Amino acid sequence: MAKKKKSEKKGKKPHKNKPTSKKYTKYSIESEKVKRAPNCPRCGPGTFLMTTPNRQYCGKCHYTEFISKK
Ligand SMILES: [Zn+2]
Repeated sequence: MAKKKKSEKKGKKPHKNKPTSKKYTKYSIESEKVKRAPNCPRCGPGTFLMTTPNRQYCGKCHYTEFISKK
């Protein structure tokens, strides 16, 4: 008789570590004030805008705000 492998699919999904929330990177504490990255005006608080030297961009709704420095 041929032996059957026991390590076949049994409905168990391989465990994958979830990516850690990186929201803490948007907060920085300087002395006693908490500085926060700007929120998206469309998605509301909780959705942070990605900031570049001349732009702010929301990855959720693709809202883009240009920063004009004069
Ligand atoms: Zn948004």
